[in-house]
Amino acid sequence: MMLNENVAVVTGAGRGIGRAIAVELAAAGAKVIVNYAGRADKAEETVTFIREKGGEGFAVQADVSNSEDVEKLFQTVMDKYGKVDILVNNAGITRDNLLLRMREEDWNSVLDTNLKGVFLCTKAVSKSMLKKRSGVIVNISSVVGISGNAGQANYAAAKAGIIGFTKSVAKEFGPRGIRVNAVAPGYIYTDMTEKLPEEVKNQIIQQIPLGRVGNPDDVAKLVVFLASSAASYITGQTFCVDGGMEM
Ligand code: NAD
Repeated sequence: MMLNENVAVVTGAGRGIGRAIAVELAAAGAKVIVNYAGRADKAEETVTFIREKGGEGFAVQADVSNSEDVEKLFQTVMDKYGKVDILVNNAGITRDNLLLRMREEDWNSVLDTNLKGVFLCTKAVSKSMLKKRSGVIVNISSVVGISGNAGQANYAAAKAGIIGFTKSVAKEFGPRGIRVNAVAPGYIYTDMTEKLPEEVKNQIIQQIPLGRVGNPDDVAKLVVFLASSAASYITGQTFCVDGGMEM
């Protein structure tokens, strides 16, 4: 068990990629806090999957864009386990539109959840990680943050922001034994991508050298590797999990 005795927090883990990451971390031995924004029932489903794999986990509600919620989330974890070893900033939303039609609230909500949420959660864990001089942070970006995408200026800006944030914090925290990396998924089959029109999905698949949509597990396996000591000399990097789409 690569992650025995580790305590991990995964944001937005009630479904999709976050759920897969939470379950894989637990299967590798970590105790996992399943954060969710609104759907307690979905988060409890993730906890059930964790327990079915013989793991330990529990769900905690918090909106990652709200600093008070985030403080409470990490206080709950500290009260129960006294530490956080692994933080996976996964929570994210889309509010797609062409720039001319993009409303200010669509810009704000995407930046607040996808980028400010990463800042708030990272800041909240950093004190205890810096004190124990160890920790791993994995931020879920997107290939769209590298290449851009028409209709997703807000999302691409937030995801590109995560990459710059990851590098900056990796430089700040590296000397204190904390590694920070980003993962940039391509087209992964989840509720987020299911709502895309069939025509758009087919166009995307044609741009993927491996010729298929990815699974949440494809992303989760890389996150577990980055969280483990097998990746102990890796920090500040962004890894695409995209079937070759971005190259
Ligand atoms: P999803 O919509 O299925 O899951 C996102 C999760 O985040 C949901 O459980 C949602 O409730 C939660 N969430 C949203 N706002 C939140 C908030 N304010 N506080 C706490 N939780 C919140 O999407 P997914 O496809 O599983 O996406 C997971 C991450 O991967 C996101 O950051 C997304 O941008 C990124 N990503 C996904 C793809 C893809 O193809 N699916 C590609 C690249 C990047």
